[in-house]
Amino acid sequence: TTLGGWLAATVPDPVTARYAGRLLAGGLLAASPDEVSLLQLLFYLRSGGGTRSLLGMAGGAQQDRIVGGPAALAERMAAALPPGTLRLAAPADAIIQDASGVRVRAGDEAHRADAAVVALAPALAGRIRYDPPLPALRDGLTQRMPMGSAFKVHALYPEPFWRADGRSGVATTDTGPLTETVDNSLPGLAGGVLTAFSYGAQARALRRLSVAQRRDALCDALAALFGPAAARPDDLVEYDWSADPWTRGCFCGILPPGSWCDYGPRLRPPVGRLHWAGTETATRWSGYLEGAVTAGERAAAEVLAAL
Ligand SMILES: Cc1cc2nc3c(=O)[nH]c(=O)nc-3n(C[C@H](O)[C@H](O)[C@H](O)COP(=O)(O)OP(=O)(O)OC[C@H]3O[C@@H](n4cnc5c(N)ncnc54)[C@H](O)[C@@H]3O)c2cc1C
Repeated sequence: TTLGGWLAATVPDPVTARYAGRLLAGGLLAASPDEVSLLQLLFYLRSGGGTRSLLGMAGGAQQDRIVGGPAALAERMAAALPPGTLRLAAPADAIIQDASGVRVRAGDEAHRADAAVVALAPALAGRIRYDPPLPALRDGLTQRMPMGSAFKVHALYPEPFWRADGRSGVATTDTGPLTETVDNSLPGLAGGVLTAFSYGAQARALRRLSVAQRRDALCDALAALFGPAAARPDDLVEYDWSADPWTRGCFCGILPPGSWCDYGPRLRPPVGRLHWAGTETATRWSGYLEGAVTAGERAAAEVLAAL
């Protein structure tokens, strides 16, 4: 069943059901309650230690930010590798394997190896051509695990005016295009930043608007939460994660109702010399950076054991 269907059947108060649905489906999976499998949500909650752990600030998953942004993590890890190890800006478009090894093609170049780890969300992994073709259930998984749908917005103000009113900048709402906001102001800088997210059906509705219409809708939504001062940001920086060709959505791939039991078991098992990583394959902190790292470690151990 879907999260939305389950909430409608079990939560007597429709307002509570709507609010819980939007917060859980949106804040955790960047989707709408009626497109989220209840089983997918339960897996996600179990994987990340429950709602308090996943949605919580102090002591929870939302507590920290990475100085320099999350890209700094990849850059620091890359800096530790021997020069020439990484090949950037060369997306793999085909992977050919036979008894002697694998060949990964990226445009005009090709790389040989004993094994390959495909560390991509299933939806993106499915855009690579495999020779021989993937088994039916593994390919079916890539057809059935779309990315969540999120629109992220930073509203920049001369100062974090909401703090003067004793407000944290954190809001969750089931009304309007936004579902969540957070105070994302940078320490040591005068300006204030409210970062806001729109998910699922609301994000898709924002995409259909012109840039000017969207700006008006977002400013109105921020003003509804934080008062008239929020309607006049110095700048509004938006990012549509579904439009990013190397992500195609976020926070991760999500299996719809009816798919977990048949296709979920195909997330991790290798196919010949191909091994699968990426946060979707993690059992703990699936969908998070932590899950991506442990998935990489698991896939590396698999490759070493197979060689
Ligand atoms: C807006 C947003 C907020 C988030 N907030 C949090 C948070 O607060 N905490 C948290 O832990 N996680 C958060 N996440 C989720 C986190 O970013 C992911 O869980 C994590 O990045 C997944 O890592 P990954 O290695 O599995 O995949 P990715 O990080 O997506 O890495 C895959 C890489 O493969 C590249 N690629 C794509 N196609 C190809 C190809 N054909 N050939 C070669 N390379 C290719 C991509 O460019 C990308 O660099 C957030 C994500 C988003 C988008």
